[in-house]
Amino acid sequence: MTIQVSKRAMFSAVAALALGALSSQPALAQSYPDKPITMIVPFSAGGPTDTVGRILAQSMTGFLKQQVIIENVGGAGGTLGAARVARAEPNGYTIFLHHIGQSTAPALYRKLSYNAADDFTPIGLVADVPMTLVARKDFPAKDLKELIAYVQTHKDKVTYANAGVGSASHLCGMLLMSAIKADLTTVPYKGTGPAMNDLLGGQVDFMCDQTTNTTGQIKAGKIKAYAVTTPNKVPSLPDLPVASANGLPGFEIAVWHGLYAPKNLPKPIADKLVAALQHAVKDPMVKQKLADLGTEPASPARATPAALDQFLRSEIVKWMRIIKQAGVYAD
Ligand code: ASP
Repeated sequence: MTIQVSKRAMFSAVAALALGALSSQPALAQSYPDKPITMIVPFSAGGPTDTVGRILAQSMTGFLKQQVIIENVGGAGGTLGAARVARAEPNGYTIFLHHIGQSTAPALYRKLSYNAADDFTPIGLVADVPMTLVARKDFPAKDLKELIAYVQTHKDKVTYANAGVGSASHLCGMLLMSAIKADLTTVPYKGTGPAMNDLLGGQVDFMCDQTTNTTGQIKAGKIKAYAVTTPNKVPSLPDLPVASANGLPGFEIAVWHGLYAPKNLPKPIADKLVAALQHAVKDPMVKQKLADLGTEPASPARATPAALDQFLRSEIVKWMRIIKQAGVYAD
């Protein structure tokens, strides 16, 4: 039996479907979120991005009245997690906390499977985190001057832990090596959480990592710390000198974190996530926890889609230039 469908009936059916999809958007947004949200963190558990993610998720959970659960998708300097998010459904149930690596990957990886600026819906900036130069507790160098001299003398005998090409620790190491003209032996991890464990255990010599991962260990005297990478001192680590003012001119880097979703996220859902982020950056619990770890949340004006979009694009241009000059590629 053949079923005949007139062109007009077909057209009406298609139009009805399209209209249905459109009119269901506000309804969908009204009930959103009605199940837990997964926040992809593109590095291992226990590291700095994971730590910021867990603080943020706790605040967003309270605001959205739905669990925001962290899923760690580490590997390839954060690009594996980013690729996963780029392919995810834009339904608000997959969100993504990344860092400066979102802007360096396009320069470092010639064959990236996603477009860092165009394949995501920006939600807003989350925080800017200083980095610290730290070493295993029994590393011979006493201060930054000695560290530079030691590394220049021992070069590739010194092991430098990082979270893979595209990570902030990789970028920091790359800038340091070019500043002091010494090639170290790099040891990549899926995040600096496990790298810190090996630093504590003395299996690697040193690394450059966010204060969100190093502050506790520095204060407990479990690792040596030499300097901060920001232009100013970090209040929670007042004894640490500023690297750029103490023998490493121009050596400055802060790790910014941004919150994203897959591209084409319906606006009403994006608006709810922006509201949750706005709540989080003003949340006293978030402020306190980040302050204890040497940082603070982004200002509400920067925790917006437009601010993140604009900043990300300018960072991509900036790092493209710097990384091209350095001639480093991952593939
Ligand atoms: N701090 C790491 C980095 O070097 C990543 C992490 O584990 O958060 O990018």
